[in-house]
Amino acid sequence: MIHEECGVFGMLDTSGEDVARTVYYGLTSLQHRGQESCGIAVSDTEGELGAVRLRKDMGLVSEVFGEEDLAKLTGNIGIGHVRYSTAGASTRENAQPLAINYIKGTLAIAHNGNLTNADELREKLAMTGAIFQTTIDSELIAYLIARKRLESKSVEEAVALSMKELKGSYSLVVMSPRKLIAARDPYGFRPLVMGKRGKAYVFASESCALDVTGAEFVRDIEPGEIVTVTSEGEVFSDKSRCIPSEKHGHCIFEYIYFARPDSVIDGISVYDARIRAGKYLFRDCPIDADIVAGVPESGNIAALGYSIASRIPCGQVLFKNSYIGRTFIKPGQSGRENSVMLKLNTLKHAVEGKRVVLIDDSIVRGTTSYRIVKMLRDAGAREVHMRISSPPFLWPCFYGTDVPERKQLIAYNRSIEEIRQITGADSLEYLKVERLKDIIYGSKNICEGCFTGVYPDVREKGEEK
Ligand code: SF4
Repeated sequence: MIHEECGVFGMLDTSGEDVARTVYYGLTSLQHRGQESCGIAVSDTEGELGAVRLRKDMGLVSEVFGEEDLAKLTGNIGIGHVRYSTAGASTRENAQPLAINYIKGTLAIAHNGNLTNADELREKLAMTGAIFQTTIDSELIAYLIARKRLESKSVEEAVALSMKELKGSYSLVVMSPRKLIAARDPYGFRPLVMGKRGKAYVFASESCALDVTGAEFVRDIEPGEIVTVTSEGEVFSDKSRCIPSEKHGHCIFEYIYFARPDSVIDGISVYDARIRAGKYLFRDCPIDADIVAGVPESGNIAALGYSIASRIPCGQVLFKNSYIGRTFIKPGQSGRENSVMLKLNTLKHAVEGKRVVLIDDSIVRGTTSYRIVKMLRDAGAREVHMRISSPPFLWPCFYGTDVPERKQLIAYNRSIEEIRQITGADSLEYLKVERLKDIIYGSKNICEGCFTGVYPDVREKGEEK
């Protein structure tokens, strides 16, 4: 399974109320974006400059924060982060938010994405005296902003100057002693939204986090935009880093898999996109069957789309035990296979004697698909037809998704027929690359680099990882 990158959340309550509990709820609703570590940093806009209270650790939000921890995190401005490591080791030191002290006070930062010029920047900063405590990109961004702050009038200007030097993907929330800032890279790889609740302003990776915290959706942060909220409640927008929308590169895999289906990203419902993917799968690759079912949870909505288009009843053939840890905690191949069986069980009575269309969001190494097809056959399925709501993964991702190296991808150097044979399915079809734009109504310029090798910021075939 491909893993999510990270989720960020930020809040400034201009009425002075504490924000930690809301940040906690926001992070809980973004937990699907990262389960390795999490953290919350808070401060008081009326308090002493640089007094930041921070707690971060390995684990889920509900494991890291208890009632006592939240009670200690007092302050009306705060940012939070959930992490799955795509750059930098999975350690407590690399957890976010990251807070640094410098001459102008304290700067805390939470980042979702991956810088493509991180090595270059690290070397450049190290040559001028920077000493790094972590191996994560976010520290580079924090250092850069702190340095630029010394030559600029405001922290938002320092963010704008830093963005000139950052390459790759980033959706950021930055907390300075008196301001909350949200910024998104000019290609808009990763989502970032703004909301409002009473006198509080909220930024979050996904709109579902606004719903959960009772904030009203205000708008998406535009690719390249910097939005600043002050402790007096003033809101400024700087769009000087924005590029023409035809150059944008929204990650299409956010719609297919990463994001929660109750989120709306850049004006397009994730749920709708998945329904449409399922419909196109049927339109382009129809098959006669008795039941359509998704591999839970991520294949369920595309399965519904396939069912609507085909009029084949939609049902459930696999039960997922949500209380088992995620597959990636088992590094070895056999560990991964066993985890599939621990997590999923067949609903024998729904499957016996049936021709099943099974919808999944992707096939990465093929191990899980093989295991699932076998489980369905063992449970008595007459036929198993796999339909995948994304094209085959063929290329790396440079923007914060852990697509494995090419040699490990089942589709690398194999035809679809060869993959079908490995999975053991009766038939196998993928969503066509030309349909990727269609699932979001053709309305956005997208990144589809891991499927095509063509990336928004270079627009040419990717280098092998
Ligand atoms: S390469 Fe793939 S996963 Fe990475 S940003 Fe582009 S579409 Fe998303």
